[in-house]
Formats: sequence, structure tokens, C-alpha cells
Amino acid sequence: MLFAADPLIGSWILWSTVMTANDILKIVGEDKTQINHLRPIPDPETLVHRKLPEGPFWQKIPAYANVDEETFLDHKWQAKNSLTKPKKLIEAFSGLVSQHFIEDVRAGFEAAPMAVRVSPYLLSLINWDEPYGDPLIRQFIPLQSRRLPNHPQLGLDSLAEQADAPVPGLTHRYPDKALFLPLDTCPVYCRFCTRSYAVGLDTPTVDKVNFGQKPERWELAFQYINSRPELEDIVVSGGDAFNLRADRVQHIGDRLLDIDHIRRIRIATKGIAVMPQKILTDHEWRDALLSLVKKGRERHKEVCLHTHFNNPDEITWITRKALNVLTENGVTVRNQSVLQRGVNDDVETMVLLGRRLGYINVQPYYVYVHDLVPKVEDLRTTLQTALDIEKHVRGTTAGFNTPTFVVDAPGGGGKRNAHSFEHYDRVTGISVFTAPSVRPGQFFLYFDPIHLLPEEGQVRWANPMQHQRMIDEALDRARAKFHGPSS
Ligand SMILES: *Cc1c(COP(=O)(O)O)cnc(C)c1O
Ligand code: SF4
Repeated sequence: MLFAADPLIGSWILWSTVMTANDILKIVGEDKTQINHLRPIPDPETLVHRKLPEGPFWQKIPAYANVDEETFLDHKWQAKNSLTKPKKLIEAFSGLVSQHFIEDVRAGFEAAPMAVRVSPYLLSLINWDEPYGDPLIRQFIPLQSRRLPNHPQLGLDSLAEQADAPVPGLTHRYPDKALFLPLDTCPVYCRFCTRSYAVGLDTPTVDKVNFGQKPERWELAFQYINSRPELEDIVVSGGDAFNLRADRVQHIGDRLLDIDHIRRIRIATKGIAVMPQKILTDHEWRDALLSLVKKGRERHKEVCLHTHFNNPDEITWITRKALNVLTENGVTVRNQSVLQRGVNDDVETMVLLGRRLGYINVQPYYVYVHDLVPKVEDLRTTLQTALDIEKHVRGTTAGFNTPTFVVDAPGGGGKRNAHSFEHYDRVTGISVFTAPSVRPGQFFLYFDPIHLLPEEGQVRWANPMQHQRMIDEALDRARAKFHGPSS
């Protein structure tokens, strides 16, 4: 059914079922000087991945009706007009939605206080005619009506990044790569942030680890990296490098590039997705980035960007314009998505996202099965959903534009290919992974959201006495398989 919705695959399947091998031979054999279209030529109108919102799309929002293009492309204007208080945010869209929706958001913020930052750009990407179906609202605005209890196995730093931190703000989990977190603020705040233990302003219910933007603290991280000859690859994340001053981006990049054994630096930023204007009008920041990329290349090293688009609606002509600048300057950009319910958890959306990213020269790199993060059970999906979507996505476009679906194993196992579980019980929703090159001999568990389990599984989770039993059962099966004759 989903295939049929895809113009490229749909027509091929249709065609290949009506044509026999003989028919094809006949056509091919008849005339070698003519093109024989073995499948129908698709109507270009159906190649929807190439269709981006064009023109001043933001003017449909009453508050921005008179905002011209020059203003809207100004990153300073975007930052200055970003909404950082739930009350202001609600005011901004209150004329566009029902009172019922407004109350739902208000109660959502009360129940799940979070740092908020929504730019005018982001606000204008939302389809306010159907707020309940909108993929951006799901990601950035909490709704009381969608609240579900946390999974009982959830811990605040579910990836155990702190446990692998030799100095504050640096996680060294894998042999040759490390994750450096130079700051704790972002150009937007996502409900589902994995680093909710650190990122964003303190909210009344969560005390955060503090990773302020402090060059003195960074020095310790650089010293550590310098002292570890095995490290070749540094991920600069956060927080978000979009919020670093240009001279600090330059400083971090220069310091890392000066370390001989560092060969690859990735700057991870959601900024490209939520504020592409910065690439176009913050010349200082852009030039700092481009100079690092160039310097890296001169030293035969790679400096690239990793970004975070989750839904094809997040890509506009402004994104394309920003990516064109990066492409012209030879910057490799890759994308890491999170698989989210109602955002991208169907084949059609994921295929469209991949093709659209590919079209603007962003390589889909990873799709993460959603981490266990507090208060976002409505966004999580089952591992099975990831497996099903992956199967359909692979084969739709270039292999290098086909993301790997991964589970970042809770407890510090690191990223594991979603298909590589040792055991997966679809009733209890427990999957078991191993990570022989990260933590040999250990087993890591992932838990599907309970409300999506078959009734039998939901009943078992409703009984706390069953929790450890279900986990032990899963571990026993995984062990039997892992050490069994077949392994
Ligand atoms: C994701 C991650 C990396 C980078 O991993 P890749 O698979 O190379 O993208 C490095 N360190 C930590 C702690 C990570 O979580
Ligand atoms: S941009 Fe990234 S680090 Fe910042 S809140 Fe969103 S997911 Fe978290």
C-alpha cells in the first residue's frame, strides 16, 4: 500500500507485473538503435521530493505577514524574535488554533516544564490548520492530551554519557572517537532531547549538569584528547555549535586540527534544520566554519557538519540556499534523524525525507530508534517499526544516502544496528544487544513503549513483580543464543 504511493517504485512494480520476460526480450531485441523505456517515465510532478516550499511562506502567519525576505533571512532577526517563554509562544499562535488546542499546550507545559526556543522560521513551518497532525508540533511543543507515563526502566542519562566522561563534557566510549560537548544551549529546544540531563535552562523539575560555554573547561578536554594517541575522530556536539560565537568555533576547530592524531572533526548542529538563515547571513560564523573545513582539507583532514532533520516538511528553499553555500565550499553534510511516532514513522515519510535530503546534498547517515527520554513516550516507537521501515527504505536511493537504523543501547553500549539484536521479544518489547568492540561480554537492553505492546505485554508491565522476570527471561534467551552452537 505504501509502495503504491511512491511514484518511482509503484510504477516499476506495476510495470514488471504486467510484462513477462518474453515481452521484455521482444522489445530489447527488436531495435538496438532506439531507447526502449522498460518502465514508464514518471510525471515530474510526482517527484515530490524536489518540491520545496518556495516564496515568502512565512507571511501566512499573521505576525509575519509584513516581514519581507531580507528580514526573514536575517539570522539576528530570527534569534531576536525566537519565542523562549511558553506564554509568548502560545500568544504567537493563539489566533490560528482552537481554544481546545491552546489549553492542551498550556497544560502540556505545566506538566512537562522544558526550555523553549521556537524561531519564527520554525513557527512558519508548522501547519496550523491541523496542529494535531503536525510533525513539528510533536517535536517542540508538549501536549497534555498526548502524555503517557514514562517507561519504568527509564533513567535520566539513559546513554550513560557521564560514566564514560574522563573530563566534564567529553565522552570517550569508542576506541578512536570521542564526543565533545562545549556548551549546553541550542538554537531550539527539542522535547525529546537525549541530553536533557544537560541541555537547556534549568526547569523547575530537572537539575541539569552544567556544561556552560567555558573555554577554560575546554582546555582540559583538549589536553585529554592530545594525550590519547588512539583518538582520530571528534564529534563536537552539545548543546549546539550554532550557539557558539564564531571565534569560539574557530578556536575549537583550530585546537583540534592542531592535534596530529585527530583526522576527523564533525560539528553536530540542529541549526541547519531550524535556522538555515545563519549560514546565509551570519558571515562571521559561516566563514569560521568554512575556514576550518579548508584548513582541514589542507592538512588532509576532514571537518564536516552533521545535522538533524526529522521530517521532509523541515526542508524549504531557504534550506536549499544554505546547503548550496555549503556544497559550493565542499562541506560534507550528513543527517541524523530520530525515528518518532507521527513525525517520520512510516515508509512514505522516511523515503521522502531521504530523497529530499539527498537532493540538497545532505547524506542521510543515521536514523536513531528513540532513546528512553523522560516524558516523550508519545514519540517513541517499537524496534519492530524501525526494522520494517528500514527494509522498505533500503533500495529506494543511493546506498550512501541510505541511513543505518541504530539503537543507542541504554547503559553505554553505544550505537548498534537495529537489526543486530541478539533477542527481541515483541510481547514484552524487550530487545537485547551486545557490543563486543565497546563493552565485550555485556548485554544491553532496549524497551519498546508499553502502550504499543500487545495486550499480554501491557499486562505484564502493569505488574511490577514481573519487571525483573521479563528482563531475566530476555537476557537468558540472548545468552543462550550468543554462546550457543551457532555463534
Ligand atoms: C554517537 C557517538 C559517537 C560517534 O559515533 P558514530 O557512529 O561514528 O557516528 C562518538 N562518541 C559517542 C559517545 C557517541 O554517542
Ligand atoms: S538541538 Fe539537539 S542537543 Fe539541542 S535540544 Fe535539540 S536534540 Fe537536544
